[in-house]
Amino acid sequence: MVVAPAAQPVTATQPARAGEQPRRAALITGASSGIGAAFADRLAHDGYDLILVARRRERLEAIAEHLRREEAVGVDVLVADLTDRADLLLVERAAAETMSLEMLVNCAGVAGYMPFVTLPPDQAEAMIALHVIAPTRLTRAALPRMIARGRGAVINVSSGLAFSASVPSPPLPQRAVYAAAKSYINTFTEILASELQGTGVRVQALCPGIVRTELHEVAGYDVSHVPFMLEPDDVVAASLAGLELGEIVCVPGLEDASRLADLERSRGRILDGARGGKIAKRYRTD
Ligand code: NDP
Repeated sequence: MVVAPAAQPVTATQPARAGEQPRRAALITGASSGIGAAFADRLAHDGYDLILVARRRERLEAIAEHLRREEAVGVDVLVADLTDRADLLLVERAAAETMSLEMLVNCAGVAGYMPFVTLPPDQAEAMIALHVIAPTRLTRAALPRMIARGRGAVINVSSGLAFSASVPSPPLPQRAVYAAAKSYINTFTEILASELQGTGVRVQALCPGIVRTELHEVAGYDVSHVPFMLEPDDVVAASLAGLELGEIVCVPGLEDASRLADLERSRGRILDGARGGKIAKRYRTD
Protein backbone atom coordinates (compact mmCIF):
# COMPACT_ATOMS: atom_id res chain seq x y z
CA MET A 1 0.00 0.00 0.00
CA VAL A 2 1.01 3.57 -0.51
CA VAL A 3 2.45 5.45 2.42
CA ALA A 4 1.98 9.01 1.31
CA PRO A 5 4.54 11.66 2.07
CA ALA A 6 3.16 14.80 3.69
CA ALA A 7 -0.05 15.78 1.95
CA GLN A 8 0.33 13.62 -1.12
CA PRO A 9 -2.85 12.20 -2.61
CA VAL A 10 -3.28 8.51 -1.91
CA THR A 11 -4.37 5.73 -4.23
CA ALA A 12 -6.70 4.19 -1.67
CA THR A 13 -7.57 0.59 -1.37
CA GLN A 14 -6.76 -2.98 -2.24
CA PRO A 15 -8.68 -4.40 -5.20
CA ALA A 16 -11.07 -7.26 -4.44
CA ARG A 17 -9.64 -10.68 -5.21
CA ALA A 18 -11.65 -13.00 -7.48
CA GLY A 19 -14.75 -14.29 -5.69
CA GLU A 20 -14.41 -11.76 -2.85
CA GLN A 21 -16.93 -9.10 -1.86
CA PRO A 22 -16.00 -5.68 -3.31
CA ARG A 23 -13.73 -3.77 -0.92
CA ARG A 24 -15.06 -0.88 1.13
CA ALA A 25 -12.96 1.91 2.57
CA ALA A 26 -13.11 4.40 5.43
CA LEU A 27 -11.27 7.72 5.72
CA ILE A 28 -10.57 8.71 9.33
CA THR A 29 -9.14 12.05 10.39
CA GLY A 30 -7.41 12.27 13.76
CA ALA A 31 -6.44 8.62 13.39
CA SER A 32 -3.07 8.90 15.13
CA SER A 33 -4.50 8.63 18.66
CA GLY A 34 -7.54 8.40 20.91
CA ILE A 35 -11.01 8.02 19.40
CA GLY A 36 -9.75 8.19 15.79
CA ALA A 37 -7.25 5.38 16.42
CA ALA A 38 -10.05 3.35 18.03
CA PHE A 39 -12.19 3.89 14.91
CA ALA A 40 -9.25 2.67 12.81
CA ASP A 41 -8.95 -0.51 14.93
CA ARG A 42 -12.64 -1.29 14.83
CA LEU A 43 -13.24 -0.50 11.16
CA ALA A 44 -10.18 -2.53 10.10
CA HIS A 45 -11.52 -5.38 12.19
CA ASP A 46 -14.84 -5.00 10.35
CA GLY A 47 -12.98 -5.35 7.03
CA TYR A 48 -12.68 -1.75 5.87
CA ASP A 49 -9.58 -0.61 4.03
CA LEU A 50 -8.43 2.63 5.62
CA ILE A 51 -7.08 6.04 4.81
CA LEU A 52 -5.62 7.43 8.02
CA VAL A 53 -5.14 11.19 8.36
CA ALA A 54 -3.25 13.22 10.99
CA ARG A 55 -0.02 15.23 11.34
CA ARG A 56 2.22 12.70 13.15
CA ARG A 57 3.61 10.44 10.47
CA GLU A 58 5.36 7.96 12.81
CA ARG A 59 2.18 7.33 14.77
CA LEU A 60 0.12 6.83 11.63
CA GLU A 61 2.67 4.51 10.08
CA ALA A 62 2.91 2.38 13.24
CA ILE A 63 -0.90 2.05 13.36
CA ALA A 64 -1.05 1.30 9.63
CA GLU A 65 1.65 -1.36 9.88
CA HIS A 66 -0.09 -3.02 12.81
CA LEU A 67 -3.49 -3.08 11.08
CA ARG A 68 -2.12 -4.40 7.79
CA ARG A 69 -0.48 -7.23 9.70
CA GLU A 70 -3.26 -8.05 12.17
CA GLU A 71 -6.36 -7.39 10.07
CA ALA A 72 -5.07 -7.94 6.52
CA VAL A 73 -6.68 -4.74 5.23
CA GLY A 74 -5.23 -2.06 2.99
CA VAL A 75 -4.13 1.04 4.87
CA ASP A 76 -2.97 4.31 3.35
CA VAL A 77 -1.41 7.06 5.42
CA LEU A 78 -2.05 10.67 4.59
CA VAL A 79 0.00 13.10 6.64
CA ALA A 80 -1.86 16.38 6.72
CA ASP A 81 -2.45 19.40 8.91
CA LEU A 82 -6.16 20.03 8.42
CA THR A 83 -5.79 23.69 9.38
CA ASP A 84 -3.57 24.12 6.31
CA ARG A 85 -5.65 24.76 3.21
CA ALA A 86 -3.33 22.98 0.77
CA ASP A 87 -3.22 19.88 3.00
CA LEU A 88 -6.99 19.96 3.45
CA LEU A 89 -7.54 20.09 -0.31
CA LEU A 90 -5.46 16.94 -0.75
CA VAL A 91 -7.45 15.08 1.90
CA GLU A 92 -10.60 16.36 0.22
CA ARG A 93 -9.37 14.87 -3.03
CA ALA A 94 -8.86 11.50 -1.35
CA ALA A 95 -12.39 11.71 0.07
CA ALA A 96 -13.85 12.61 -3.32
CA GLU A 97 -11.87 10.20 -5.48
CA THR A 98 -11.69 7.01 -3.43
CA MET A 99 -14.12 4.84 -5.36
CA SER A 100 -14.89 2.46 -2.50
CA LEU A 101 -15.29 5.07 0.26
CA GLU A 102 -18.21 4.01 2.44
CA MET A 103 -17.36 5.76 5.65
CA LEU A 104 -15.92 9.14 6.56
CA VAL A 105 -15.05 9.78 10.20
CA ASN A 106 -14.30 13.44 10.93
CA CYS A 107 -12.54 13.02 14.25
CA ALA A 108 -9.46 15.31 14.31
CA GLY A 109 -9.67 17.85 17.10
CA VAL A 110 -7.96 19.82 19.84
CA ALA A 111 -9.63 21.20 22.94
CA GLY A 112 -7.89 24.59 23.16
CA TYR A 113 -9.61 25.40 26.47
CA MET A 114 -8.90 29.04 27.31
CA PRO A 115 -10.81 32.20 28.22
CA PHE A 116 -11.91 33.70 24.92
CA VAL A 117 -10.28 37.08 25.58
CA THR A 118 -6.86 35.47 25.99
CA LEU A 119 -7.26 32.91 23.20
CA PRO A 120 -4.90 34.09 20.43
CA PRO A 121 -7.05 35.00 17.40
CA ASP A 122 -5.02 32.77 15.10
CA GLN A 123 -5.59 29.84 17.46
CA ALA A 124 -9.32 30.57 17.46
CA GLU A 125 -9.30 30.58 13.67
CA ALA A 126 -7.30 27.34 13.54
CA MET A 127 -9.83 25.67 15.84
CA ILE A 128 -12.65 26.72 13.55
CA ALA A 129 -10.67 25.46 10.54
CA LEU A 130 -10.11 22.09 12.22
CA HIS A 131 -13.54 21.53 13.80
CA VAL A 132 -15.81 23.33 11.32
CA ILE A 133 -14.19 23.91 7.92
CA ALA A 134 -12.43 20.54 7.59
CA PRO A 135 -15.45 18.33 8.43
CA THR A 136 -17.69 20.49 6.23
CA ARG A 137 -15.41 20.30 3.20
CA LEU A 138 -14.59 16.61 3.66
CA THR A 139 -18.27 15.73 4.02
CA ARG A 140 -19.04 17.77 0.91
CA ALA A 141 -16.28 15.93 -0.95
CA ALA A 142 -17.32 12.42 0.13
CA LEU A 143 -21.09 12.62 -0.30
CA PRO A 144 -21.60 12.68 -4.09
CA ARG A 145 -20.02 9.25 -4.60
CA MET A 146 -21.81 7.80 -1.57
CA ILE A 147 -25.15 9.12 -2.83
CA ALA A 148 -24.45 7.77 -6.31
CA ARG A 149 -23.77 4.31 -4.82
CA GLY A 150 -26.79 4.51 -2.54
CA ARG A 151 -24.86 3.79 0.63
CA GLY A 152 -22.33 5.27 3.03
CA ALA A 153 -21.96 7.00 6.36
CA VAL A 154 -20.37 10.14 7.75
CA ILE A 155 -19.59 10.28 11.46
CA ASN A 156 -18.78 13.77 12.70
CA VAL A 157 -17.18 13.65 16.12
CA SER A 158 -18.76 16.38 18.20
CA SER A 159 -18.84 16.47 22.01
CA GLY A 160 -21.20 16.52 24.95
CA LEU A 161 -20.00 20.12 25.25
CA ALA A 162 -22.14 20.91 22.20
CA PHE A 163 -25.02 20.95 24.73
CA SER A 164 -23.13 23.03 27.29
CA ALA A 165 -23.95 26.63 26.34
CA SER A 166 -25.91 27.24 29.56
CA VAL A 167 -23.25 25.78 31.89
CA PRO A 168 -20.71 28.28 33.28
CA SER A 169 -16.97 27.77 33.77
CA PRO A 170 -16.25 26.45 36.32
CA PRO A 171 -17.33 23.72 36.63
CA LEU A 172 -16.71 23.26 32.90
CA PRO A 173 -13.53 24.53 31.21
CA GLN A 174 -13.39 27.86 29.35
CA ARG A 175 -14.45 26.74 25.90
CA ALA A 176 -16.42 29.31 23.85
CA VAL A 177 -14.86 28.48 20.47
CA TYR A 178 -14.50 24.74 21.06
CA ALA A 179 -18.08 24.25 22.26
CA ALA A 180 -19.48 26.56 19.56
CA ALA A 181 -17.63 24.57 16.90
CA LYS A 182 -19.11 21.35 18.27
CA SER A 183 -22.58 22.92 18.24
CA TYR A 184 -22.02 23.70 14.57
CA ILE A 185 -21.24 20.02 13.98
CA ASN A 186 -24.52 19.01 15.60
CA THR A 187 -26.68 21.47 13.65
CA PHE A 188 -24.86 20.74 10.40
CA THR A 189 -25.24 16.98 10.85
CA GLU A 190 -28.88 17.09 11.90
CA ILE A 191 -29.93 19.26 8.96
CA LEU A 192 -27.81 17.21 6.57
CA ALA A 193 -29.55 14.06 7.79
CA SER A 194 -32.89 15.43 6.64
CA GLU A 195 -31.41 16.44 3.26
CA LEU A 196 -30.07 12.91 2.81
CA GLN A 197 -33.27 11.05 3.59
CA GLY A 198 -33.89 8.31 1.06
CA THR A 199 -30.35 8.33 -0.33
CA GLY A 200 -29.07 5.38 1.71
CA VAL A 201 -26.37 7.62 3.23
CA ARG A 202 -26.40 8.06 6.99
CA VAL A 203 -24.83 10.81 9.07
CA GLN A 204 -24.19 11.05 12.77
CA ALA A 205 -22.95 13.64 15.26
CA LEU A 206 -21.11 11.68 17.93
CA CYS A 207 -21.22 13.50 21.28
CA PRO A 208 -19.18 11.72 23.93
CA GLY A 209 -18.56 12.95 27.47
CA ILE A 210 -15.02 12.77 28.82
CA VAL A 211 -12.97 10.09 27.06
CA ARG A 212 -9.61 8.71 28.19
CA THR A 213 -7.37 10.16 25.42
CA GLU A 214 -4.47 12.56 24.99
CA LEU A 215 -6.82 15.47 24.22
CA HIS A 216 -6.86 16.76 27.81
CA GLU A 217 -3.09 16.63 28.26
CA VAL A 218 -2.55 18.38 24.91
CA ALA A 219 -4.94 21.12 26.12
CA GLY A 220 -3.14 21.37 29.48
CA TYR A 221 -6.32 20.34 31.27
CA ASP A 222 -5.95 18.15 34.36
CA VAL A 223 -8.50 15.34 34.38
CA SER A 224 -6.88 13.30 37.17
CA HIS A 225 -9.78 14.27 39.48
CA VAL A 226 -12.45 13.08 37.00
CA PRO A 227 -13.88 9.84 38.38
CA PHE A 228 -15.76 8.81 35.23
CA MET A 229 -14.18 8.52 31.81
CA LEU A 230 -15.34 6.65 28.76
CA GLU A 231 -12.92 4.39 26.90
CA PRO A 232 -12.31 5.19 23.20
CA ASP A 233 -13.21 1.64 22.07
CA ASP A 234 -16.55 1.82 23.88
CA VAL A 235 -17.33 5.22 22.32
CA VAL A 236 -16.65 3.80 18.86
CA ALA A 237 -18.80 0.72 19.54
CA ALA A 238 -21.64 3.00 20.71
CA SER A 239 -21.29 5.20 17.63
CA LEU A 240 -21.54 2.26 15.23
CA ALA A 241 -24.43 0.76 17.19
CA GLY A 242 -26.12 4.19 17.10
CA LEU A 243 -25.66 4.31 13.34
CA GLU A 244 -27.47 0.98 13.04
CA LEU A 245 -30.24 2.34 15.28
CA GLY A 246 -30.59 5.33 12.96
CA GLU A 247 -29.47 7.81 15.63
CA ILE A 248 -28.42 11.11 14.08
CA VAL A 249 -27.18 12.47 17.40
CA CYS A 250 -25.39 9.78 19.39
CA VAL A 251 -24.59 10.50 23.04
CA PRO A 252 -22.83 7.35 24.23
CA GLY A 253 -23.13 8.06 27.97
CA LEU A 254 -26.79 9.18 27.92
CA GLU A 255 -29.00 6.39 29.26
CA ASP A 256 -32.30 8.22 28.72
CA ALA A 257 -32.35 9.01 25.00
CA SER A 258 -35.79 10.67 25.35
CA ARG A 259 -33.91 13.75 26.63
CA LEU A 260 -32.68 14.33 23.08
CA ALA A 261 -36.28 14.21 21.85
CA ASP A 262 -37.19 16.73 24.60
CA LEU A 263 -34.49 19.07 23.29
CA GLU A 264 -35.87 18.81 19.75
CA ARG A 265 -39.36 19.58 21.04
CA SER A 266 -38.09 22.65 22.93
CA ARG A 267 -36.36 23.95 19.83
CA GLY A 268 -39.50 23.38 17.80
CA ARG A 269 -41.57 25.37 20.33
CA ILE A 270 -39.17 28.34 20.05
CA LEU A 271 -39.38 28.30 16.26
CA ASP A 272 -43.18 27.95 16.32
CA GLY A 273 -43.54 30.66 18.94
CA ALA A 274 -41.46 33.12 16.91
CA ARG A 275 -43.52 32.70 13.74
CA GLY A 276 -46.33 35.08 14.66
CA GLY A 277 -45.15 38.00 12.51
CA LYS A 278 -45.14 40.36 15.51
CA ILE A 279 -42.40 41.61 17.80
CA ALA A 280 -42.84 40.14 21.29
CA LYS A 281 -44.50 42.37 23.88
CA ARG A 282 -41.44 42.69 26.10
CA TYR A 283 -39.58 44.49 23.28
CA ARG A 284 -42.39 46.91 22.43
CA THR A 285 -42.60 50.41 23.81
CA ASP A 286 -46.06 51.23 22.35
P1 NDP B 1 -6.58 12.94 20.77
O1 NDP B 1 -5.75 14.09 21.19
O2 NDP B 1 -6.21 11.59 21.26
O3 NDP B 1 -6.73 12.88 19.18
C1 NDP B 1 -6.85 14.03 18.40
C2 NDP B 1 -6.50 13.66 16.97
O4 NDP B 1 -6.65 14.80 16.13
C3 NDP B 1 -5.07 13.18 16.83
O5 NDP B 1 -5.03 12.10 15.93
C4 NDP B 1 -4.36 14.39 16.23
O6 NDP B 1 -3.28 13.93 15.46
C5 NDP B 1 -5.47 14.96 15.35
N1 NDP B 1 -5.27 16.36 15.03
C6 NDP B 1 -5.18 17.41 15.90
N2 NDP B 1 -4.94 18.55 15.25
C7 NDP B 1 -4.86 18.23 13.93
C8 NDP B 1 -4.61 18.97 12.74
N3 NDP B 1 -4.38 20.30 12.78
N4 NDP B 1 -4.62 18.33 11.57
C9 NDP B 1 -4.83 17.00 11.51
N5 NDP B 1 -5.06 16.24 12.59
C10 NDP B 1 -5.08 16.84 13.78
O7 NDP B 1 -8.05 13.31 21.23
P2 NDP B 1 -9.45 12.54 21.10
O8 NDP B 1 -9.32 11.23 20.48
O9 NDP B 1 -10.08 12.66 22.42
O10 NDP B 1 -10.21 13.54 20.13
C11 NDP B 1 -10.90 13.10 18.98
C12 NDP B 1 -12.16 13.93 18.80
O11 NDP B 1 -13.03 13.66 19.90
C13 NDP B 1 -11.93 15.46 18.81
O12 NDP B 1 -12.69 16.04 17.78
C14 NDP B 1 -12.44 15.89 20.18
O13 NDP B 1 -12.91 17.21 20.13
C15 NDP B 1 -13.55 14.87 20.40
N6 NDP B 1 -13.93 14.67 21.79
C16 NDP B 1 -13.05 14.21 22.72
C17 NDP B 1 -13.45 14.03 24.04
C18 NDP B 1 -12.51 13.57 25.11
O14 NDP B 1 -12.87 13.67 26.32
N7 NDP B 1 -11.33 13.05 24.77
C19 NDP B 1 -14.83 14.29 24.45
C20 NDP B 1 -15.68 14.73 23.39
C21 NDP B 1 -15.25 14.89 22.12
P3 NDP B 1 -1.88 14.67 15.21
O15 NDP B 1 -1.49 15.37 16.48
O16 NDP B 1 -0.96 13.54 14.82
O17 NDP B 1 -2.17 15.60 14.09
